[in-house]
Amino acid sequence: MEITESLKENTLLGYISMEIAVDSNIPTYSGGLGVLSGDTVRSAADLELPMVGICLCYSSGYFYQFFNEYGEQKEREIEWNFFYEFEKVPKPITINIEGKDVKVSAWQYNVIGQSGHILPIYLLTTDVEGNEEWMKKMTGSLYDSTSRWNRIVQEMILGIGGVKLLKSLGYNNIQTYHLNEGHGSFAMVELFNMLNGDIEKVKDKVVFTTHTPVPAGHDRFDQSLVDKVFKSTMPAEIRKYADDNGQFNMTFLGMALSRYRNGVAKKHGEISRKMFPQYEVDYITNGIHLPFWVSKPFRKIFSRKWPNWRANPHILENAIELDDLDIFDAHIENKFNLINYQKGHSWNLLDEELITVGFARRFAAYKRAVIIFHDVDRLGKICKNNVQFIFAGKAHPKDQMGKDYIKEIHETGEYLYDNYGVKVVMMENYNMDLAHMLISGCDMWLNTPNRYHEASGTSGMKAALNGVPNFSVLDGWWLEGYKMNPLAGWAIGPDDSDPKAMENNWDVDANYIYKTLENEIIPTYMNHDEWIFRQKNAISLAAYFNTHRMVEEYAEKAYKLKRQKPWKFVG
Ligand SMILES: *Cc1c(COP(=O)(O)O)cnc(C)c1O
Repeated sequence: MEITESLKENTLLGYISMEIAVDSNIPTYSGGLGVLSGDTVRSAADLELPMVGICLCYSSGYFYQFFNEYGEQKEREIEWNFFYEFEKVPKPITINIEGKDVKVSAWQYNVIGQSGHILPIYLLTTDVEGNEEWMKKMTGSLYDSTSRWNRIVQEMILGIGGVKLLKSLGYNNIQTYHLNEGHGSFAMVELFNMLNGDIEKVKDKVVFTTHTPVPAGHDRFDQSLVDKVFKSTMPAEIRKYADDNGQFNMTFLGMALSRYRNGVAKKHGEISRKMFPQYEVDYITNGIHLPFWVSKPFRKIFSRKWPNWRANPHILENAIELDDLDIFDAHIENKFNLINYQKGHSWNLLDEELITVGFARRFAAYKRAVIIFHDVDRLGKICKNNVQFIFAGKAHPKDQMGKDYIKEIHETGEYLYDNYGVKVVMMENYNMDLAHMLISGCDMWLNTPNRYHEASGTSGMKAALNGVPNFSVLDGWWLEGYKMNPLAGWAIGPDDSDPKAMENNWDVDANYIYKTLENEIIPTYMNHDEWIFRQKNAISLAAYFNTHRMVEEYAEKAYKLKRQKPWKFVG
């Protein structure tokens, strides 16, 4: 679709993110960060925000995951073709890497909002005619684990290439570049050049969101690597802000050269302020795009009850007024849908009658996917004839711990089945399509991270929207959600007023899980009315935990946009 000159003139926001999950089948995401970016641009388009998105185009994506006979993760590169929705940008720009000119082109993908508003996304690629072979591979795969060199080069393309491309396409009125995580911080280098070396002007144009409460999670590069790829093109003025004990820290740069900074949940804001005491760091709690994540049966119920709910999600506050039988039927439809799918993809077939606990997300070690098996015989006794488990998730190809967890789930699953008849299954290749089925088709959504390692988390919000209560450690968004409405699910372990919470003791947390399952969750499930009451309370959380509310907060606090028609920058 044609992007008109007037749309370009009116575009005030450049959103730069290493991952944007625009579609389940377009491999531009690995997990929560990408899904959040996708939900952000979907809501921004619905709200007619004057935004354009920048991401990379990964010709072989993240990876396709499957399991071998030992329950070990195996990976394949993804082969994919551009759909008709993509349009190639005619003229490449060039950026300087290792003293050579590298051509960067882009594929344009339009996100269309509810009223028809177009939000263009440009996916940058070096797979361009005229580039040498080694250059063409630079944007090959997301989080390429082969080298730090590859990573820094991808981040140069994203940050520097992103700003340059927007300029070359005629987006001349961008007031705010929103760097979604430190991956995009090299944008500062290009802005610094564009604004004639005026650091204050650079700062004035940038909004920075951090997503990682774990110090080791922040992107750092050796200065020698920076020298190697930038040669003389890294301004000393910029470099000094990134200095982290001799390393180049992308988060430092984002924090130092931005006019507004935020974490992605209340607790995460608090932690970020402790990590960066010299800066003001606000928080804006994440959300999900409700129309994207609502299952069909629930969409029907909501639309019948509140015809305008998409535009006014806060109406879901009144979920308690929904009809019990409607909720029951809708959930059963989702559950059958999931279990039918599962039966076609596994040898151990789940049972519709049992409480189905779901756990799916990236298999990073801090998420502790296997803590539920801490005392496997106790678990077996509690769950026998009552509860079954369904898992999914990818481990980063270089993350041995995550891979070990996947194997452990397979092995423990066999033990539980042999000894207690308890079924534990793990589905291959977690992506947004599978996520849709899991978050709506399970009865309960489990999350067990180490406390204060989960910046926000969003899969639990998707579950809640679809009437699936959360059973989770009080971290990230759930610390807020559970306080807002303790009937929306169950907590695992203490909240942040208990100093011991930080210990993340496996014995203590596992004991909470077993006690709560046995004494509260199973008995509540056996009482239909009581369970449906819980489901409705879960749904009510979606009134707040959605990206419409979130994007409006960004507009007001971070972008300084005033809601008129069209939105106006108010400085
Ligand atoms: C929502 C989603 C995530 C994020 O899950 P968390 O539990 O927040 O980590 C990751 N991957 C996919 C495919 C998702 O849909």
